Amino acid sequence: MHELALARSVIELVEEYATENNCSRVERVHVRLGQLSAMTRALYFCFRSASRGTCCEGATLCIEEIPLTVKCGFCDDVKQPSGRYNFRCPDCGRPTPQVVTGREMQLVSIELDRGPNDHPPNFGSDPLANQKSRNTEPGIQHVE
Ligand SMILES: [Zn+2]
Repeated sequence: MHELALARSVIELVEEYATENNCSRVERVHVRLGQLSAMTRALYFCFRSASRGTCCEGATLCIEEIPLTVKCGFCDDVKQPSGRYNFRCPDCGRPTPQVVTGREMQLVSIELDRGPNDHPPNFGSDPLANQKSRNTEPGIQHVE
C-alpha cells in the first residue's frame, strides 16, 4: 500500500471515531506498523501533510514498529532474521517463508483532545470580572 493512502485511511478511521464521540480535535494516534512495510518514516511525513484541515491536524502520530520474526520449521521456533529481506533462519540457514510478525498495519488507539470540556469558556463567572464590577459599585464610589 502506498504510504499516503495508508495515512489517509488512518485519518479516515480517526475522523469517524472522533465524530462518533463528538470531538473535533485529536491529541494522539497510535499505530502499530510491521517492519516489513518499511514505511515508518514515510508515514510520519504523509500523516502530517494529509491531516491538514482534518481533526488530526496537529495530532501526534505514534508508530510502534514491530520487528520481523519468522517461524523456522526445522528449529520449530520463532526467529528474528538478520535483515528485513532475509527470510532465512539465523541459526540453521533454512528458508523460513512463514512470517510471524512484521506485516502488521494496525490502528491501536486514538486519544481525543478533551481540552474544551476541561476548560469551558465560562466568561460569565470569571472571578476577575466579578471583582471589577464589585469595585465600581455605586455605594463605594459615593462621596458626600
Ligand atoms: Zn532454523
